[in-house]
Amino acid sequence: MTTVELTDKMRRAGLRPSAQRLAIMQYLEMFRTHPSADEIYKALLPEFPSMSLTTVYNTLHALVGSGLLREVEIEPANLRFDSASTPPHGHFRCRCCGRIFDMPLPDGIILENMPGGFAVDSLDLYLKGTCPDCTTARD
Ligand SMILES: [Zn+2]
Ligand SMILES: [Zn+2]
Repeated sequence: MTTVELTDKMRRAGLRPSAQRLAIMQYLEMFRTHPSADEIYKALLPEFPSMSLTTVYNTLHALVGSGLLREVEIEPANLRFDSASTPPHGHFRCRCCGRIFDMPLPDGIILENMPGGFAVDSLDLYLKGTCPDCTTARD
């Protein structure tokens, strides 16, 4: 997504597209690693030396509140973030290296089979195990 598209998206969500907000959005679009607030803070610090970790937290919170980002709660002690522009997907956490991977959801999982009257707007699927790299390294 280009800066213009991101700016537009942010305006439509009712957020002022500040340089820091744009940088955080761009970081999450570019790196599909589901970083924590701390990781994003450290990565952007060279570009924004006066930015505080609190600012990063507040910005992430605002972006989640506006539906531009999603929280990934696969590790209770370490909240991570994901761009909301990717289609709904599950997450797999490798117990060995700790990386988090996007996993496709089977078509029509659960959502189509909900009892009448329930409007679902969020679905989280969390899987844990060993990733291909770690499985190979262990053999
Ligand atoms: Zn692994
Ligand atoms: Zn994801």
